[in-house]
Amino acid sequence: MASQEELNKMIKVASDAKSKAYCPYSHFRVGAALLCEDGTIFSGCNVENGSYGLTICAERTAYTKAVSEGHTKYKAIVVTTDVEDRFITPCGACRQFGIEFGNFEVYCVKPDQKTIHKTSTNELLPGGFGPSDLEAPRSSQ
Ligand SMILES: [Zn+2]
Repeated sequence: MASQEELNKMIKVASDAKSKAYCPYSHFRVGAALLCEDGTIFSGCNVENGSYGLTICAERTAYTKAVSEGHTKYKAIVVTTDVEDRFITPCGACRQFGIEFGNFEVYCVKPDQKTIHKTSTNELLPGGFGPSDLEAPRSSQ
């Protein structure tokens, strides 16, 4: 569970990352901050591509940065956008990407950096397919 101090820091990191978003097509800026169990925070922004399909979300940018630095245990992720009238939650691909690493907090934060919706990876993808499913006994028929 993220402390209030950690959450405040994550919101700042995610907001700063949002300013680096590469989104010349959608103009939809997203920033993320991923808190690892040891307190390390990885930032992420969306990175669009002219092929559209290769676009990477802010959350998955943060996950891949963390994993590539040896961090796979997380306490929380913050996601923030420029949308003021609703909370923007992670897309389906990012929900699947998140539960790969277990159940942890997800904070969706409005641009004022104060209005926060708290949820979790399990809440965002109930019944999702995860690593434990690969361990299930299988029929040879
Ligand atoms: Zn996504």
